Amino acid sequence: MLGRLADVLLPPVCIACRTRIGSHGLLCGACFAKIDFIAPPICARLGVPLPYEAGEPSLSAAAIAKPPVYDRARAAARYSSTMRELVQSFKYRDRHEGLPLFARWLLKAGAELLADADLIVPVPLYRSRLWWRRFNQSAMLAHAVARLSGTGVDCFVLRRVKGKKVVVVDDVITTGATAEACARALKRAGAARVDVLALARAVEPNSFVL
Ligand SMILES: [Zn+2]
Repeated sequence: MLGRLADVLLPPVCIACRTRIGSHGLLCGACFAKIDFIAPPICARLGVPLPYEAGEPSLSAAAIAKPPVYDRARAAARYSSTMRELVQSFKYRDRHEGLPLFARWLLKAGAELLADADLIVPVPLYRSRLWWRRFNQSAMLAHAVARLSGTGVDCFVLRRVKGKKVVVVDDVITTGATAEACARALKRAGAARVDVLALARAVEPNSFVL
């Protein structure tokens, strides 16, 4: 409520650096230019950028060496520079004015995953207090992208997932351990497919193609 009021009363500023811009909820040109969006060619499994197209399906060395439990992961950008600041402000400082923009980025990065998905699920799936804050942020992202894509969202899905194609939404994939844990739990519960969609992904410098 206060946020919406501020949107009306305060002049629009860049959601990263707070300099004045033309509209609310966007980035200034300088901050936008520092986002390293992930574009094809990418690894079909991990979603990390590849230095060149490597045939069908394109797989990174990392995906071949250690195939993930989830089917496919996609992220809008590398977890660096402006994107790291945006994710951290969203996560730890409750700065949510970028949510509509984040949802559009997720929709674009996850188009392939969302096309025939049955359900969107935020991570983590655990309900303990320790995880609540993190869960809350991913739930906001999950609901925002669900609204844009028209896919249903379910926060506590484990009992109702049999045979379903699920997209797990998170803010950032760092080591991939959380995505793996969610995929394992969902597959054990009977999910037909588990994909992971995040705003950002930490990209190992050596995840090159074989
Ligand atoms: Zn800026």
